[in-house]
Amino acid sequence: MRKTAHELTAPIKNRLKKIPEIEDWTATIINVELMAVGCNLIDKNLKLGEAWSLLTGYDEPVVPLGADKSILSRLRIIFSQFTGQSLWEREMEDYFELPSIYRLIDRTDEGIISFLTPRYDPNRKEDYENILTQPISRKTTDLEFAKAGKFSYIRRKDNIQQKFQGEIPGQWVFMNSHLPHYREKKSIAFDLSFDWMQIAKEMDTLLGEGKDEWQNKVAPLLLKSRSEQSTFVYEGVQHIGGGLAAGKSTFRTMNTYWLVKTKKAKVGLLEGNVAQVLDRVSELRKLGLKVVSLVGRGNRRLHLENYLLSNPVTSLNEITNYESLSHLSDICTIQALAGDVNDDGSRHYPCKSLKQKDDRSPKKCPLTSHCGIYKEWGQLLDADVWVTTPGAVLHSRLPVTIDPQERLLYEAMYDLLDVIFVDEADQVQKQFDEAFLEEHSAFGNPKHLVEKLYGQLNETLQGNYDLADNDLLTQWGKNLDHLHESVWSLYAEIKKSTTLRESLRNKVIYLNYLIFEISQDLSDDEKLQEKMAEEMREFVRNSTYTSVVNLDDRLHGLINLASQRDKQTLINNWISKLGGSIPEKNKASQLYSKIEFFVYLAHIERAMKWILQFYPVVQHYLNNNVEIPLLTQIKDFRPFMKEAMTGVMLGYRYETKEGIDTGEFKIIQYMAVGRQLLNEWPYLYEAADGKKGPTVILLSGTSYAPKSLHYHIEVEPQWFIQSSRKPSRLTQDFIEIRDPENGEKLIPVSGVQQQGRRHSNLQVIVKEIVSKIRAELHYWKEIEEERKVLLVVNSYDDVEIVGVALEQFPEWKGRYRLLSQKDKKNEIWFPRSRVEQFSLENADILVAPMLAISRGYNIMDKYGNGALFGSAFFLIRPYPVPNDLSYFVQILHGNLPLYFEEIANNNLTYAEAMRKIRKKSRGKFEDMYRKPDYWSILTDQERTVLAWFTFIPTWQLIGRLLRGGKDARVFYCDAKYMEKPNGKPSLLEYWEKIMSESENDSLFVSLYGPFSRSIGTINKVGVF
Ligand code: SF4
Repeated sequence: MRKTAHELTAPIKNRLKKIPEIEDWTATIINVELMAVGCNLIDKNLKLGEAWSLLTGYDEPVVPLGADKSILSRLRIIFSQFTGQSLWEREMEDYFELPSIYRLIDRTDEGIISFLTPRYDPNRKEDYENILTQPISRKTTDLEFAKAGKFSYIRRKDNIQQKFQGEIPGQWVFMNSHLPHYREKKSIAFDLSFDWMQIAKEMDTLLGEGKDEWQNKVAPLLLKSRSEQSTFVYEGVQHIGGGLAAGKSTFRTMNTYWLVKTKKAKVGLLEGNVAQVLDRVSELRKLGLKVVSLVGRGNRRLHLENYLLSNPVTSLNEITNYESLSHLSDICTIQALAGDVNDDGSRHYPCKSLKQKDDRSPKKCPLTSHCGIYKEWGQLLDADVWVTTPGAVLHSRLPVTIDPQERLLYEAMYDLLDVIFVDEADQVQKQFDEAFLEEHSAFGNPKHLVEKLYGQLNETLQGNYDLADNDLLTQWGKNLDHLHESVWSLYAEIKKSTTLRESLRNKVIYLNYLIFEISQDLSDDEKLQEKMAEEMREFVRNSTYTSVVNLDDRLHGLINLASQRDKQTLINNWISKLGGSIPEKNKASQLYSKIEFFVYLAHIERAMKWILQFYPVVQHYLNNNVEIPLLTQIKDFRPFMKEAMTGVMLGYRYETKEGIDTGEFKIIQYMAVGRQLLNEWPYLYEAADGKKGPTVILLSGTSYAPKSLHYHIEVEPQWFIQSSRKPSRLTQDFIEIRDPENGEKLIPVSGVQQQGRRHSNLQVIVKEIVSKIRAELHYWKEIEEERKVLLVVNSYDDVEIVGVALEQFPEWKGRYRLLSQKDKKNEIWFPRSRVEQFSLENADILVAPMLAISRGYNIMDKYGNGALFGSAFFLIRPYPVPNDLSYFVQILHGNLPLYFEEIANNNLTYAEAMRKIRKKSRGKFEDMYRKPDYWSILTDQERTVLAWFTFIPTWQLIGRLLRGGKDARVFYCDAKYMEKPNGKPSLLEYWEKIMSESENDSLFVSLYGPFSRSIGTINKVGVF
């Protein structure tokens, strides 16, 4: 964590506090003046009122080209709470109420900043400039290591503070050196004519006499430039496309080996999942590299279970041979020594809170090298290669025992590595986007956010009277009280109205959508609806804790009313004032209920947003032993990221359990544009700290996807990898499966609303294709290939439904397996973690959800020569989940370059530009949310986006069938693949269209060749 505004400005504050006339205004004075000095350093013509737009994280074209980025980034570090226009305006209003003799700042009628000489502390402008012209360093925790002997620590367990004690054995103590703050980056390049075969030979020699594994792998591999470059320079972001089995993994491993051995570089690798991390570590260690696996603390037990499933241990002796087991341990040695069984689900380890003898200051744990959790992390200092997952990069922090700055893994990789390879870069882009789109339990349960925040505040304030005059904490408390009160009012309404409860059940609710619905209920006139919607949006902006005391006709007073009649009168007055009509009696109660719900939710949202915005500032005072993921997750990233394009947006999911009336609310927050952390990794901290980041190499077979808003990476690939091997041949057929009850109609599955009907249609399809499955197995046998059949569906629930259909056929008894997430200990179910070993299973068919195996799994035949599955039947057309926030948000992010183009063309900057981006994004979001995503009513552009969205996972799955240069046959079974509603082209036709649009693009062809060559010749075949 970096120094806070509070710490940076403490000397100025102390001086101003001594002046009685302004002592209560010091925070406001410093905020406005420091911001004004920064704005003036960036652009002398920038209006102070627009300062908030600098803090949203958007650079050009929102901020004009050439603006001083270092000042900009420091303003963002200091003032992340002022990204909202209204908060900033209020702060300015307060400031300008002060007589000018106390102020450093004035403004012209146009709002341009000018400087005054204040009567007191007249030279403070210089201090502000000093703060902004120097890097804002990260804070370090200077603790000593604990020594051998007795220790104790206190932690909260089961909501009670408990003391634990134990003894550290002398022979285990190891006081490791700390990681450096930064390592200078190396300049590295290679010529495209470089002889990689020599490196391969060296690697093979390390593996043992007579080995030629790497030589065979590198022989067909060709790295090509898209722009005639003859040298590959490790710098910035290098994006490399590479088709299936073209040799991306070979390129990456050989480069890693070469970079470490020849260039003494430090390298990071991002893998898709923990199993792949362990494989990569083992591969690189065999080559003599010092490699560490960095697996986050969460879900270790689950990873361990999965690992043991795919690598069964049959004797105690074997355990010691399984190095990987130690990478997945979740045992804290200190807790074990203290007999503290970590069974309460808490992940609070006492790494920096050990107490010894009478020494009051806490100590660091000296057992990192004997620690189940951090043993691997303890070797970071000497490691050449760090292997990790995208999740760990964003969410894991280095322990204080090895890094006194406790950096996030992402930050440490920036500071300390030369090169980072990112595999499946398009998938990582999605994961980074989704990391800032999280769902958290918010209210409706004592362990949820609101209650935790209360607990945290109480612990902070208890007996701590020094904080009594702390304005920020006072406001924090008031907002929390207000949040609490509004939540209670909301629950009272939910409990009262069955209709409301039913309408909310398991849905995501957005305030803006409620506004839209209410305005429609109140009038049929579109203009009036828009006017009322604007009134309601204004109402939301004013829904602060101060507004509820006004029992006025703007509805805020509802929270303070008990009588239902008074509430209705207030609502009726409000409707009349807006010009809306009060519906007839039977519809009125529903509307009253909806309006009440809206009012309480508006107040909840305002309080929540205030809390989210001010947490980084208030956190300084609060007890930070309380883990609040919603608030803590992004605080370190926030100053360096683009804020959510819509402005921070919250959604609410009301979840109910069978038989229980009162449900729980989850908050879904859209906070920031996550993909930026990937695309700008090499430069993210350069402006703020003046230090260069690592080279980031993006690798993927599907990250070049023109017109896809979900998979395409904005940084164009400069390179591509090709294999000189014979390309695979793919054949694609659409099977016309007619409804036995209505011989004319093809059977749809996707989009069938009625669940029962959908399930029976799916089962009929399975029954109708059994002869085809048989024929496929026969086909592969005839050409002497031991290939198997894959039945592809959309979810694990679908797998079960298909299983029921297959069960009816004695012929298939024992010959099919159903993929499961976990080990069901049942011979029909096959756990996903073992899917790469399916060739050892005595079965011909696997039923699997597409997304469960479409990436990252090498499902090879038992000799490891090529893909095990030869034929795939796609039983259900893939389609996005309705109202999926992740789907929407990625579309917004994909549209951002277009919005930038528009504001640049219109010469909009600062506040105007940000307003435009927010307005367009909110409009787009609401459009997507309101409009059902039926294929028939989408525009051509929307259908193209959807075609890409469905094509990429389909192609990724087909890729499993083409490994090792094998041929494959796929069959589309759901009628929806070929359906042309209202004469619009079908999904398969759109796939053909997106292929043909890029048929002359050599990179495109190298990525999707087998698909694009065969989609045009797709056959319609019958079942028999
Ligand atoms: S370093 Fe490891 S053993 Fe020591 S307290 Fe932290 S988790 Fe426990």
